[in-house]
Amino acid sequence: MTNLPEIDANRLWARQTEMDGIGATPGGGIHRLALGEADIEAHRRLNDWARARGWGVLLDDIGNMFLRREGADPSLPPVSSGSHTDSQPMAGRFDGMFGVLAALEALETIDDAGIETRHPIEVAIWNNEEGPRFTPACMGSATYAGVQALEKMLAAEDPDGVTMGQCVADLRAALPDAGRRELGEPFAAFIEAHIEQGITLEGYGNVIGVVTGMQGYRRFRVEVTGQDAHSGTTPRSRRRDAFVAATQMAEALRQAFLDETDTMRFTIGRFEVLPGGISVVPGRVVFTIDMRHPSSETLAAEGDRVVGICKDLKGDCEVSVTEFITSASMEFPEEMRARIEAAATARGFPNQRIYSAASHDARHISRLGPAGMIFIPCWEGISHNEAESATKEDCAAAAQVIADVLIELAV
Ligand SMILES: [Zn+2]
Repeated sequence: MTNLPEIDANRLWARQTEMDGIGATPGGGIHRLALGEADIEAHRRLNDWARARGWGVLLDDIGNMFLRREGADPSLPPVSSGSHTDSQPMAGRFDGMFGVLAALEALETIDDAGIETRHPIEVAIWNNEEGPRFTPACMGSATYAGVQALEKMLAAEDPDGVTMGQCVADLRAALPDAGRRELGEPFAAFIEAHIEQGITLEGYGNVIGVVTGMQGYRRFRVEVTGQDAHSGTTPRSRRRDAFVAATQMAEALRQAFLDETDTMRFTIGRFEVLPGGISVVPGRVVFTIDMRHPSSETLAAEGDRVVGICKDLKGDCEVSVTEFITSASMEFPEEMRARIEAAATARGFPNQRIYSAASHDARHISRLGPAGMIFIPCWEGISHNEAESATKEDCAAAAQVIADVLIELAV
């Protein structure tokens, strides 16, 4: 323990402050959509820092970037850490970027200490984690892990008709000296640090969250079809009012998923009444359901009740329920959780185990090697918001844990 090097909290904070200036908003936040001008500038900055150390910079076909310090044994897979540089519109400074810079600080610390590792060590920057410009979110990590098809993802268009393929070409043009990385190359290990985006760590006064896993989700589209009719002339007995049926379904679903422990997350986030005329009995309603639960079994069992509940309340209307995205809950391997926990404890950082309610790139990368995640507190749990905030000390704590675990795994 005593011969592990100390990370440089001031350097880490200076890097964070520099990145805060790229895509800065007047409200103190960040607007850095995936592979837009600001995001490419952030990549260029990371490239320059890696080059200054004599490290390699690699790009893959979906625009993921890897800063690589070679190890003694080139046949070994890399030990890696990282996150993403893109943001939601008008969002916060730490979501994603903090995890990238903590990983960079860990590598720089190892480099400064002159530690030779057997494995290569890397900073991974996953493209388009957030997804507001190009759907789906976590595009880079999912494509790298083979969960999404490359051609389809490169063809994804932003609202202006610009494709992801064009943006990846822009990134490549901005970094002409970058080498090439094959998709799907495995990792000896991958650690992602991220702000919690919740209030658990803050509530318990802990600095490091050892993430045990990520809750899965099921998303449904419910389409209720009745008949458009004149609102002035059509009596109740002759109405097939899709809104009436849909609101009954919505309330019954809400009641059905009220659990005593408040673990199930049930959301109807979109509710469209069509055709939308003030004097028309609506013949069609489309609404969405987003369900999340840390237990895959519970999510499977509860999600399977949706169709039955909707059918029971359709009345004279028709209803069709389509499940359009499913993602099982996942757990990180205990070996990785234990390492992160031990490193945090050895450094005296108050820590706890914590479940991730949001999805992150590590979900996909865990298919390619043992993965783990570290959370740090973010002020009042506020995220995807310009007011998002984390402290210098907490950011430094995460970088230190990453450095210690990387050394343990890579040497
Ligand atoms: Zn993020």
